[in-house]
Amino acid sequence: MTDKLENYLDWVRDAHAMEEQAETMLKKMADRLEHYPALEARIHQHIQETQEQQRLVKTVIDRFDTSSSTFKDFTGKVAAMGQAMGGLFASDEVVKGAISGYVFENLEIASYSSLIAAAELVGDTEGKRIFEQILEQEKAMAQWLYDNLPEVTRQFLIRSETPHVEAKR
Ligand code: MG
Ligand code: FE
Repeated sequence: MTDKLENYLDWVRDAHAMEEQAETMLKKMADRLEHYPALEARIHQHIQETQEQQRLVKTVIDRFDTSSSTFKDFTGKVAAMGQAMGGLFASDEVVKGAISGYVFENLEIASYSSLIAAAELVGDTEGKRIFEQILEQEKAMAQWLYDNLPEVTRQFLIRSETPHVEAKR
């Protein structure tokens, strides 16, 4: 395998690890949002999208990955990537959670934007098509979070002033 293709596949594997991390984060967040139904609904939608993204990214890996040695490589890299991002975006408060979500979506946007260029250069037309499709979903999610952050913040502050009302969730 050429160096160019090795790098490309490394990045695709990283994207897969990123999507697994995304699912974990989104699920954790969705559990705490009973008083923020709009945010909760959008996050549930994105969990579905994220699971489909994982499947699609995996198809790109599977088309190239045939030997067992590259598969060993896979697990090591996934673990490293997952650990690095896990703590970074964890928060148990809704406003910080929404901000972290926005940051994470932008990490995904940057990753897929780079992957599209790489796919093009190695001639992976199918991969390019998949990453472009995923990129649109990440952009939509980032934009939604950006647009709704002010309202989530207002709701949080109003709830925190109301006696006997839990704001964080
Ligand atoms: Mg994603
Ligand atoms: Fe996403």
